[in-house]
Amino acid sequence: MSETDDRPRPSEVGSSDGPPVDEKPYKIIFEANKCFGAGKCAEVSDNWEMDLATGLARVDSYFIGEDELEENVRAAEVCPAKKGDGCIHVVDRRTDEEIAPDPHGDGTLSVDW
Ligand code: SF4
Repeated sequence: MSETDDRPRPSEVGSSDGPPVDEKPYKIIFEANKCFGAGKCAEVSDNWEMDLATGLARVDSYFIGEDELEENVRAAEVCPAKKGDGCIHVVDRRTDEEIAPDPHGDGTLSVDW
């Protein structure tokens, strides 16, 4: 089995009862245990805020539409967790591929589970 086969598929992670794919084609997978509260995500996206109680980030909507895609991709790209790979993952539900930050460059889910 290759390393790629070992990675979980995005569709295996998180809620399966989300809104219809054509309404919200993208979903967020948040590796909250890797967040260290840098706050960059909240600076660039309204979908992210800092939870004052935990000091960590919190996402508003796990399922997002085209209109919210750009800011969430930016949040994924600016997140400095995991030595810059980031702990915010934006997935295209239609292709089941990670579109950001995609550090492997192949659309596989870049979680450390
Ligand atoms: S940018 Fe990343 S590490 Fe910083 S608060 Fe947001 S999710 Fe956490």
